[in-house]
Amino acid sequence: MAEPTFVQLDPQPLERYRKVMDGDFEKIRQVADFAADYFDHRTVWHVNSTAKGGGVAEMLRSFLPYANDSGVDTRWVVLSERPEFFTITKRIHNKLHGHPGDGGSLGKAERDAYHGFLEDSAHHLTDLFKPGDVVFLHDPQTAGLIPAVKAAGAFTIWRCHIGLEVANEHVNEAIEFLVPDVEKADGFIFSRGAYLWPQLPADRAHLMAPAIDAFSPKNQDLDDQTVRDILGIIGLSGEPPAEPPHFVRSDGSDGTVKRAAELLQVEPLPVNAPLIAQISRWDVLKDHEGLLECFADYLADTDAHLALVGPSSKGVADDPEGPAVQQRIAESWELLPEDLRRRVHIVALAMDDFDENGTMVNAIQRRADIVVQKSLVEGFGLTVSEAMWKSKPVVASAVGGIKDQIIDGETGILVEDPADLKAFGDALRKLLDDPGLANRMGKASRARVAKHFLAAPRIAEYVSLIGLVQSTADANRS
Ligand code: UDP
Repeated sequence: MAEPTFVQLDPQPLERYRKVMDGDFEKIRQVADFAADYFDHRTVWHVNSTAKGGGVAEMLRSFLPYANDSGVDTRWVVLSERPEFFTITKRIHNKLHGHPGDGGSLGKAERDAYHGFLEDSAHHLTDLFKPGDVVFLHDPQTAGLIPAVKAAGAFTIWRCHIGLEVANEHVNEAIEFLVPDVEKADGFIFSRGAYLWPQLPADRAHLMAPAIDAFSPKNQDLDDQTVRDILGIIGLSGEPPAEPPHFVRSDGSDGTVKRAAELLQVEPLPVNAPLIAQISRWDVLKDHEGLLECFADYLADTDAHLALVGPSSKGVADDPEGPAVQQRIAESWELLPEDLRRRVHIVALAMDDFDENGTMVNAIQRRADIVVQKSLVEGFGLTVSEAMWKSKPVVASAVGGIKDQIIDGETGILVEDPADLKAFGDALRKLLDDPGLANRMGKASRARVAKHFLAAPRIAEYVSLIGLVQSTADANRS
């Protein structure tokens, strides 16, 4: 299989966080300066399976440029594996979320195939790593590399971005599949305490909540005119502007939004119409269909519009189920009565240019009056933090990490049972009817993200975590 590819990381000035972090920034600055010495001559690697699409790629892009700016040699490598590999890893992903996925099993044949696929990547990668380097391997796609990375003499830390609070048979099957590799790592990171696997030794387990970058194209400030222009280019609302709208790219250079989306809509969103939006990968666990049904059953008599937004399926390499999910949503849209269909917009955003795609997501989140995350399960919803940072009230299922992100009634509304469409309908109506409440929740949301879920402060957490992993590894060796 093809060699793993490097993702270019242009350092971003950590210093820009000074203005969004109050007095806490100085501490981060000091740790960052210390880190540059501590990692002298060593490289910190991150390995995952896609450079775009989904939360892991998003998080790496949000954090690694600041680590580089601090003087730590930080690199990001992406596996190049064949579709059959991703069929197995998507099955593991779904099962770790407690769902049967494609119904296939995870037995010895799949384990052998999984390891067979990874063999080439292991050779290529271990040629790159030096003894003493620190290697973060992300999610099930990379777990099978742990033994090889350890053998290369690098400190190996596996980060799991998926989790379910109460394990069921599917979760246990996936854990059983992964544990023989994962337990060899020097450390493991989970997003929440509830996700820790009891099968792993506690002294090597660590917690870290995912974070977003306040200055990325996805989250940077955009004025109202730019938002309108971007929606015009996408084709979601209004007319394309005469000149393409500008944004600041991840590397600091100027960018423009040029690409229309693949759209299913009767007509564009009217300029002043209230908008409810969910932005997610096309994945059954994000339950776009449930949201569509909720909208049809409980919000038909409002003047609100619904946008279901995701990546163009051509653009996401490690998610083989995306096109089928998108197709089912399209079929449900076709079946809506005409007057409702007029108010529902299915939007697949171009993924050709990562920064442009992020800017489109940014503009839609800003245009939305309410952002929804109707996931059936969710390790941690980056889309939730992104919307909250833009001062949006979020209505979401009370599942997984979303419960840590949203304070119910203060920064948004949590719906206890993700299958309770009426409760979702009631929550959305409450906010549509009370813009003052929506506004207050939006403001509280931004403050909460500023305090807990921004990327740059994670530098301090990473440094202390690596220190702990190393001392535990040393203690366990002696
Ligand atoms: N996303 C994107 N473009 C899209 C749709 C989604 O960049 O067209 C991003 C979204 O903004 C978020 C990430 O994909 O940053 C999804 O992360 P999340 O944690 O919400 O869910 P995951 O995909 O990891 O399950």
